[in-house]
Amino acid sequence: MTTIRTTCAVCGDVELIPTDLSLELTATSGTGTYVFSCPECGGTQRRPANHRVVSILLATGVAYEVMESRGPITESEIARFSTELDRIDWAEQLN
Ligand SMILES: [Zn+2]
Repeated sequence: MTTIRTTCAVCGDVELIPTDLSLELTATSGTGTYVFSCPECGGTQRRPANHRVVSILLATGVAYEVMESRGPITESEIARFSTELDRIDWAEQLN
């Protein structure tokens, strides 16, 4: 299974699996926020997700929720996500 490396504010570098994370996606910008529970300290962490991070998280199968406050997701945005998914470097870290 894919592991995702990120940083806990308390513990430093931690490794997660996709089911440890959830993503709040802003449809209009293609960015958002990801939330995870640290496997070391159990704390909930919220981090901004830029385009690249969003792409990595979606590609690894992280559950996501589209925030519709600024309008619904469009066909072109879905197409853009699909394109970005083809460019994932699996070894990349989120930050
Ligand atoms: Zn921690």
